[in-house]
Amino acid sequence: MNRIFESKEEFKELYLSSVTSLSGKPFEMTSDFDRFQALVKLVASKARSVQTETEKRVHDTGQKRVYYFSIEFLIGRLLDNYLINFGVRDLVAEALKEMGSNLETLEEYEPDPALGNGGLGRLAACFLDSMAHEGIAGYGNGMRYRYGLFKQEIVNGAQHETTDDWLVHGYPWEVRRQDKAVRIGFGGHVVGTEENGRMRYHTEGTDDVLAVPYDIPVVGYGGNTVNKLRVWSAEPVEEEFDLDAFNAGDYAKAQAHRAEAEAISAILYPNDAGEHGRLLRLKQEYLFVAAGINSVLDTFRKEHGSDWKLLPQYVAIHTNDTHPAMCGPELMRVLVDEENLEWDEAWDITTKTISYTNHTILPEALEKWPISTFSKLLPRVYQIIDEISRRYNAAFDRSQDGWQDRLRQTAILWDGEVRMANLSVICSHSVNGVAKLHTDILERETLKDFYALTPQKFNNKTNGISPRRFLAEANPSYAKLITEAIGTGWLDDAAELSKLEAFEGDPAFLERVGASKHENKVRLANYVRRECGLAIDPNSIFDVQVKRFHAYKRQLLNIFKVMDIYNRRIADPNFRVAPTTFIFSGKAASSYTFAKETIRLINSVANVVNNDPRVNEVMKVCFIPNFRVSNAQLIYPAAEISEQISTAGMEASGTSNMKLMMNGAITLGTMDGANIEIVNLAGAENEKIFGLTAPEVDELRASGMHFAWDMYNADPDRLGRVIDELTDDTFAALSGNFESIYNELMNGNDHDLVMKDFASYVQAWEELTQGYSDRMDWNRRALHNTACSGWFSSDRTIREYRDEIWGA
Ligand SMILES: *Cc1c(COP(=O)(O)O)cnc(C)c1O
Repeated sequence: MNRIFESKEEFKELYLSSVTSLSGKPFEMTSDFDRFQALVKLVASKARSVQTETEKRVHDTGQKRVYYFSIEFLIGRLLDNYLINFGVRDLVAEALKEMGSNLETLEEYEPDPALGNGGLGRLAACFLDSMAHEGIAGYGNGMRYRYGLFKQEIVNGAQHETTDDWLVHGYPWEVRRQDKAVRIGFGGHVVGTEENGRMRYHTEGTDDVLAVPYDIPVVGYGGNTVNKLRVWSAEPVEEEFDLDAFNAGDYAKAQAHRAEAEAISAILYPNDAGEHGRLLRLKQEYLFVAAGINSVLDTFRKEHGSDWKLLPQYVAIHTNDTHPAMCGPELMRVLVDEENLEWDEAWDITTKTISYTNHTILPEALEKWPISTFSKLLPRVYQIIDEISRRYNAAFDRSQDGWQDRLRQTAILWDGEVRMANLSVICSHSVNGVAKLHTDILERETLKDFYALTPQKFNNKTNGISPRRFLAEANPSYAKLITEAIGTGWLDDAAELSKLEAFEGDPAFLERVGASKHENKVRLANYVRRECGLAIDPNSIFDVQVKRFHAYKRQLLNIFKVMDIYNRRIADPNFRVAPTTFIFSGKAASSYTFAKETIRLINSVANVVNNDPRVNEVMKVCFIPNFRVSNAQLIYPAAEISEQISTAGMEASGTSNMKLMMNGAITLGTMDGANIEIVNLAGAENEKIFGLTAPEVDELRASGMHFAWDMYNADPDRLGRVIDELTDDTFAALSGNFESIYNELMNGNDHDLVMKDFASYVQAWEELTQGYSDRMDWNRRALHNTACSGWFSSDRTIREYRDEIWGA
């Protein structure tokens, strides 16, 4: 362990001088905010010296560099994480206490940058953590949004969005690198000139903006490697402040130029919001791709000169989903137009350098852009895409039966659109899915024609999560217990968590597992009281579904279960229910009506249930507003039931299922995404599986034999009753009934099979919760889940990427 402070005394001395020099005040007069800022500045400066050493090591050994391009990085707060990774968390906490401060209080001042929507962005952040831990020279490349994903407030049960002004007090981890800024051109027209018998192209008349990078250190556990995350901000190229307009009192006009450039990095787009065709989004994608490629090649050039055929040996560029799909054409553009390479050589280099992760199996969710929009905004990049497409089509094997259909399915340009997924596959040497089932579906369905053509490109990399952040940092009491039992080795190698299996028969240990869980539940209950003014009972079962709201994730199914249990308990006070707190959290894209109505339904049910003394002994419903990494770290450790109830075949992988498993929650779920791997690792008897499987879903849909009205009529007392309650005022007190949900189900014929899986879901829940009375056995299952969760460490995932894709 490479500790940044040898002793408390050393830390105190450095810290005192950091606080006083930054604030200009004697220590006693400084505020908690001053002290927070100074602590981050101190840790960041230590991190930067390790970064310098890392950089030297990478340079001297000629280590391959991996660039992870992602339009989202949901990094969470960094201070606590970096203190753990540098092995000084306890030392710093004690020293601060002796100085009259409190580490946890100071940590609350750190903004939680919402530079991502959910799973995809958080995955990118866990990967940075693991690349640094594994000693990979791995760098994030993304966007620095001025405003993160909206802040969610609940008003009369409904979601309201307000801006997330995360930079208002500055961000002490970042360093602005004006010297590394890159000029990015939009629009204009392509001009070709002949040079020594060869055409060369450049673009004239562009509207330029400046991409300015900000670097954030990424500290690997062990403290030996510090990498960086580079995020780009859009600014005007030069200050074109219109003084005449200003003097004439037209302040808006004076600033117009700046505003237009800054709009590109102003906001993070919510997903699921129908992003197609939004010009600003396309500008974002090109900005972080072009600026990123420029900086990658700059570093390469400094180390290896212009020997471009060496690029794949020293550089891997990974594209997280299709948002960075322009990496291929942009790299081609630089190599061919600026570096004067022949097309074929440039193409060989490009495809050997780039790899791609797919995140969705839904054909309609694959990103597409109208050619007209695209070619106007990025004329030369479009020409290159057109040429890639032309050559792909020309070289297509026409000897096989059905080649026309196969070419149509895999074409880049089709029906007036640029298909970004096909572009990504064609520009990459590797295409991976994010869980076994997901990769199978890609190969069999979504990308089956590509799979038939180039099966060797395809591989699976089941997602993972950082055990430092989601166990060591989020769950200190459990981490302490684990370390007492098996030592600290699990932080380096989470496979060592399997040593916990030796304690599954130890009643005293299982008692302590339960005590740790209880402590976490009390901690969450306190947070809920502060944030929602709701009292929840830490002795009840904490049943947790926290994730983005989406129809396929089926929060609706979960709240239907709650409504059903409520109805049955009211009808029959002897109906036995294990006392449970149903906990929900998550945001819905602002334009996604169905998801927002589901949030309103949950809050409306909560309002009724929580105020009904007839049921409060056994149930409460709790919606925690503004789900983000920082409160996720409070919620996961307190969970006992992990709700992973997506329609089978729809959730690519999921990662909250892994975080919850590692924290000792039992999965109540469908055979979907990585739930399948959870069951394989921990045994079906230690989870609770229900519902249709993916093949059964396919079969049912193909048969056309699922009828919502039949389901409704077949079960009038329970399912029928729940459906009726959407419109009969039972839950309308806060802000009305739920006609749109009713219509979606009954007139839309229950697309996500909520009604179909309802009965088996509620039954599974009842069976699972009945087991809670045997607490020793429950704790054993909890511990067993943790013991089997090591494989889900993102370290394992990253080692697979390194060995099988990046060759780093
Ligand atoms: C892990 C995580 C997610 C992903 O949750 P899923 O249930 O896998 O969709 C989303 N948001 C945050 C804040 C997370 O930490």
